[in-house]
Amino acid sequence: MKADTLAKQGSSMQQNTTETTLEEAKTNIKAEVRTKWIKQHPSFSIHDQYLSLNREEQTIIFQFIARHNRLRKHMYTKLKIGKASICPCGQGPQSAEDILQTSPNVATLRHSFRPEPTTFTEKIHGKVLRKA
Ligand SMILES: [Zn+2]
Repeated sequence: MKADTLAKQGSSMQQNTTETTLEEAKTNIKAEVRTKWIKQHPSFSIHDQYLSLNREEQTIIFQFIARHNRLRKHMYTKLKIGKASICPCGQGPQSAEDILQTSPNVATLRHSFRPEPTTFTEKIHGKVLRKA
């Protein structure tokens, strides 16, 4: 009984007409998702140099890390494509390690990025360097 009275009384009062626009709703949802994502990924940094790379460059690094790439070792041993996994340099399978560390075929290019000796791990997980 009291609820009915209060409802009738409330409906006769001035109604709140503020509505959330689609843009406001989108902004609120994005902010909430971003906050949740940052909590779930505490090591994420907007200053990560990986993010300064373009999509193609990021993809190459990711493929090298995952060992899932278009180099002969993966193409031949995993995807059964090609005649052999051997690198044209002749030193062994053409892999991310070969390209980034030992293959003489790309030594000049490799040296132009990193003249000093650098480990494979440093190259794929370390600082991003631009060609000198
Ligand atoms: Zn090679």
